[in-house]
Amino acid sequence: MTNATHSLYGAGHQHATRTRECVAMPGKREQTILSPRFIPQRLRSVWGQIVCDPCAAPKGRIRVECDKCKKAGGKISRNNTWKICNHCGGNGAVYCRDTVKATHAFRLPTDGLVQDLFDRTYMNPPFGELEPWLHHPGTAGRTAWLVPVRCHRKWWRSWARTLDVLIALDPFPFEGRTQAFPSPCALGYRGDDADEIVEAFAGVGEPF
Ligand SMILES: [Zn+2]
Repeated sequence: MTNATHSLYGAGHQHATRTRECVAMPGKREQTILSPRFIPQRLRSVWGQIVCDPCAAPKGRIRVECDKCKKAGGKISRNNTWKICNHCGGNGAVYCRDTVKATHAFRLPTDGLVQDLFDRTYMNPPFGELEPWLHHPGTAGRTAWLVPVRCHRKWWRSWARTLDVLIALDPFPFEGRTQAFPSPCALGYRGDDADEIVEAFAGVGEPF
């Protein structure tokens, strides 16, 4: 496939940062997919703050590449509805920052998969390596996952059964993107305040 949506999201997210391969080869440069800010914003509205992000984005500016020329330098509108490349006039490359801003952010080379997590943990795990993050042995207290819907996988369904609520999200672009991610996504939630979470996410998705 060579269409724009695939090059924006397909290969990039399959090889997102924080994979085992990256842990084994820390110098390897891979693409980071940043959470759309409406997710952490809504969690913070219920939690006060996000305490832990076990697969946090690198610190500082993170480049979201131009879809055509892959060069840096471009403009994006505040609401992510358009991007313009300074070089080719395409869907420009822009710089973004971590949108989660957790108190305890585990970043490579720290492997968040072997850390004990905290109450009020949020994660947007690499979509190509979901299973170990969904069944993370160190979860404690309220935990939220932003994931693609993989209901054809047993490990996905066994994770979903452990949740207090699973919210199907309307299509959305990730931070720095203008095109919606081409697969259905959901927010999995474990916590005794699931009703408040459902209320906070009303308008961007609904429980199923
Ligand atoms: Zn360009």
